[in-house]
Amino acid sequence: MNIKEKVLIIEDEKSIAQFIAAVLGGQGYETIQARTGKEALSMLSSHCPDVVILDLGLPDLDGMDVLRQLRSWSSLPVVVVSARSHERDKVAALDAGADDYLTKPFGTDELLARVRTAIRHTRTASGNGEIAQKGTYTVGELVIDYNKHQVLVRGENVRLTLSEWRLAALLGKHAGKVLTYDFLMKELWGPRAGGSNQILRVNMANIRRKVEQNPAEPEYFFTEVGVGYRMAEGEQTP
Ligand code: CA
Repeated sequence: MNIKEKVLIIEDEKSIAQFIAAVLGGQGYETIQARTGKEALSMLSSHCPDVVILDLGLPDLDGMDVLRQLRSWSSLPVVVVSARSHERDKVAALDAGADDYLTKPFGTDELLARVRTAIRHTRTASGNGEIAQKGTYTVGELVIDYNKHQVLVRGENVRLTLSEWRLAALLGKHAGKVLTYDFLMKELWGPRAGGSNQILRVNMANIRRKVEQNPAEPEYFFTEVGVGYRMAEGEQTP
């Protein structure tokens, strides 16, 4: 038996909603659709979806209001959809509890990857242990060994500082998912960290210099411009 998740698509543009429904339906997901924020809020409680795809520009309510209302009672995975020109909206949505975002226009692979990642992270979210990760994470020629606190590239131990290790480890733990600058700052440097992201940029530049073949075109640690960082999707072994 192969039961797939039920996805609520909240999107007022008919063609986009139909595209999303067709792609997810083709992979065996069950899909339901809402065209307005009000309709979405009532369907959220009456139809019990497993995942939500939320367009931020809705005709009645702001998508952010839908997200905030949803987050007041549920930790359902939410992937927000927004136009490229609205970076600040994406950051605000992620910081308000969205799990990830899709930038319009997006393709089939990207859509499926975001939905898969959002579901996986909800399933594996276990407590608040900061980087209480075990096992190894492998992507391409890079291995993060959580037991030994090591990053290896082609089998060679990369010498990272503690801050670099914590940043790499945290991104690896959430691989495939974008983590905002604000989230990373707070996770790594405490709730009062903030203001400048300089410390993050310096650490990321150092990690890339040590790990990437070509730091200007990273294969492992991606920048989501104006938003944060995302680790390439790979494989977690226990
Ligand atoms: Ca819209």
